Amino acid sequence: MVVDELTKSKEFMAMEDKYGAHNYHPLPVVLAKGEGVFLWDVEGKKYFDFLSAYSAVNQGHCHPKIINTLTEQAKTLTLTSRAFYNDALGPYEKYITEFFGYDKVLPMNSGAEADETALKLCRKWAYNKKGIAENEAKIIVCDGNFHGRTITIVSMSTDPDSYKGFGPFTPGFIQIPYNDLAALEKALEDPTVAGFLVEPIQGEAGVFVPDEGYLAKAYNMCKAKNVLFIADEVQTGIARTGKLLACDHENVRPDVLILGKALSGGVMPISAVLADNDIMLVIKPGEHGSTFGGNPLACKVAISALEVVKEEKLAERAENLGEIFRTELRKIESDMIELVRGKGLLNAIVIKPKNGKEAWDVCLKMRDNGLLAKPTHGHIIRFAPPLVITEDQIHEAVAIIKKSIDEISNG
Ligand code: PLP
Repeated sequence: MVVDELTKSKEFMAMEDKYGAHNYHPLPVVLAKGEGVFLWDVEGKKYFDFLSAYSAVNQGHCHPKIINTLTEQAKTLTLTSRAFYNDALGPYEKYITEFFGYDKVLPMNSGAEADETALKLCRKWAYNKKGIAENEAKIIVCDGNFHGRTITIVSMSTDPDSYKGFGPFTPGFIQIPYNDLAALEKALEDPTVAGFLVEPIQGEAGVFVPDEGYLAKAYNMCKAKNVLFIADEVQTGIARTGKLLACDHENVRPDVLILGKALSGGVMPISAVLADNDIMLVIKPGEHGSTFGGNPLACKVAISALEVVKEEKLAERAENLGEIFRTELRKIESDMIELVRGKGLLNAIVIKPKNGKEAWDVCLKMRDNGLLAKPTHGHIIRFAPPLVITEDQIHEAVAIIKKSIDEISNG
């Protein structure tokens, strides 16, 4: 019998199609192994990972130090719930608050949960501290935002794929254009505004980098109105954009900082909300929490993941290699590349369709040539490799991107 070399892949894809909900449209490749910047499929083909699980794997796949911490702690204690104290949570809380410079942390699991936590925190603060009348608080959010998938979060979304068919929606949000300070100023005139929730760079929207000065000015405007500046750094944080936090580019210290994804090095869902006492302590026992939030396994893993960021100078790597990556991408001469943009190693190209070929076709071709990336919003391809990538590997990857675009362009 002649065995089709892709039989294994096809079987796995067919299983997902048959037994899994159809809430994703994955690129057809079935992955079985990861190490550093590389992934391997079930047939053994090797790829550069240029998505990093949406920036959750900044430290590289299966980082030995993080995996060692994970396996050691997994043999000792994994979950106690917060009904009791455990010997990992306090040390983690001390470590992460000192690492990011806040009084307190509230540990959660997914990014969406951390965003929800920040929204609750902001509302409670509005009533307890700012003096807004109960149930009147509003939070300003930006067009094109992506903060996750819960009902409240999709209530803030301007993307019909996210919200359509899921109403009724949670009230209390004011939507304004991203990167528009005049719109923010106007929205801030409403005295019932308690917070401004913003991504320092809009990742899911297609790596939209705001104008220089936007974050700092927005922060100052919020301060002037006693409004909390809440930064969703779930995707941009933990060294991805060339600084520990994307807000660091403008020396902005958010009142409320939301982290997720790479806080675990991609090993398990770990998220966190950081704030100072006057904000964080408005939430009292029993008012918020999660069974898994702050579990000992997560606490140990997160410390390791943050240590790797520091020890391997991942922010500096992202800054330097990001410059090189964008410079090399801009050298590619192709009428299919409309634009290259990004910061650090969070980058994107905007694809102009040619001969009926779109970003999806470019991604399929890059896959064939050994590099994995995924289109967002049809015409944008995000490039976000693990930050442990080397300069040589950046050049190799750019050669694959160029070859793939050339092959697609030439039919
Ligand atoms: N916030 C931002 C900025 C994100 O990019 C994401 C996910 O892509 C989330 C929140 C949601 O995180 P999670 O998928 O872990 O719920």
